[in-house]
Amino acid sequence: MKADYLIVGAGFTGATLAERIASQLGKKVLVVDRRDHIGGNAYDEHDAHGVLVHRYGPHIFHTNSKRVWDYLSRFTEWRPYFHRVRAVVEGKEIPLPFSLASLRKLFSEQLADRLEEKLLAHFGYGARVPILRLKEAEDPDLRFLAEYVYRNVFEGYTLKQWGVRPEELSPSVTARVPVLVSYDERYFQDTYQAMPKEGYTALFRRMLSHPNIRVLLGADWKEVEGEVRFDRLLFTGPIDEFFGHLHGPLPYRSLRFQLETHPVPWAQEVGTVNYPSEHPFTRVTEFKHLTGQGYLPHTTVAYEYPEAYEPGRNEPYYPVPREENEERYRLYLKEAEKLKAVLFAGRLGDYRYYNMDQAVARALKLFEEVARG
Ligand code: FAD
Ligand code: UDP
Repeated sequence: MKADYLIVGAGFTGATLAERIASQLGKKVLVVDRRDHIGGNAYDEHDAHGVLVHRYGPHIFHTNSKRVWDYLSRFTEWRPYFHRVRAVVEGKEIPLPFSLASLRKLFSEQLADRLEEKLLAHFGYGARVPILRLKEAEDPDLRFLAEYVYRNVFEGYTLKQWGVRPEELSPSVTARVPVLVSYDERYFQDTYQAMPKEGYTALFRRMLSHPNIRVLLGADWKEVEGEVRFDRLLFTGPIDEFFGHLHGPLPYRSLRFQLETHPVPWAQEVGTVNYPSEHPFTRVTEFKHLTGQGYLPHTTVAYEYPEAYEPGRNEPYYPVPREENEERYRLYLKEAEKLKAVLFAGRLGDYRYYNMDQAVARALKLFEEVARG
């Protein structure tokens, strides 16, 4: 077999690179993926009751990048969707991110008024304050609030999700879900928030349906390595695996998803309910909120159980952002720089905690480099 470009991985990174190279450079591209489907972790499929479910965990699209939005809009129509999340705190369901609305659910009117006033005075309406920053506040009321939110929203959840406390991870991890000084009850505040109208897999099918693109599924890079001739390799799998773990394995965190279908139209009021302090699972997502299939008589929910990554048994879903891992990753990056014909990208190739839009943005940028030659 011969291709100009061999791309390992048919997720957002690989599919974007393949589409750009095939359509803009007119080159022949072979995309291989060891799974038996395209879409990477964003893959979705209909379950036995017709609910469109995400096999590798619920995926909600959001971005501030007009470039990414416009690019993906060529391959899908969108269904407007604002994701809402609640967390169970001391038996009450409160809006997440923790906001002025959450305060009102938990505290007396007098205390909530005082805390709101202090938050507004210190940070201003609309501010997004990472919990680890709020914890540094000197004002006693804000300290109380920070301790409360840390203990009831972040500590237990992070211990379950990552196996370590929030301070042991890069601050960027908990900063993804800041304390919001506003009454905005949406989980994301991005300019563009929507779900692909016919799902992610349909979007990927359109991205990859170019005469210059061939897709080979159920094929690991290791199996095709000696079989395919190519000028350049774009690798979106785990970078440490590519180099045979030369510098030791990079840590990843995994999840087990338990899907349950119930013979009722709805199971919960919002897309996701988080359980920071109880149960071994972190959150429960009801897919119909995401897909807009309110007309179906059944509903399907996904429980997320965090677990250690064990190669061969589960998937490397999350790179673990902390300094010592970044150092190890940099050793791999040095190896990568020695290989002129191989480029790495994606959540696993770059060892970065990318959202879907960031994976696409990174791929679009890499394409520009590729196009320059
Ligand atoms: P992937 O989607 O992981 O694709 C990599 C592909 O490479 C895989 O299909 C894999 O099988 C293949 N591969 C790897 N190694 C090899 C090999 N040796 N040979 C052949 N094939 C190989 N982002 C959001 O924006 N919103 C969300 O709500 C959201 N929710 C998420 C929930 C979970 C549980 C997870 C894990 C991620 C979530 N993400 C979300 C992030 C999103 O999944 C990623 O940003 C995106 O999938 C990254 O795309 P990628 O192509 O880089 O990687
Ligand atoms: N987080 C938390 N409690 C919550 C929600 C999030 O402690 O109720 C922390 C936790 O460390 C989590 C991180 O914030 O891993 C990022 O959350 P996000 O919802 O962005 O995670 P993802 O959807 O990527 O799994």
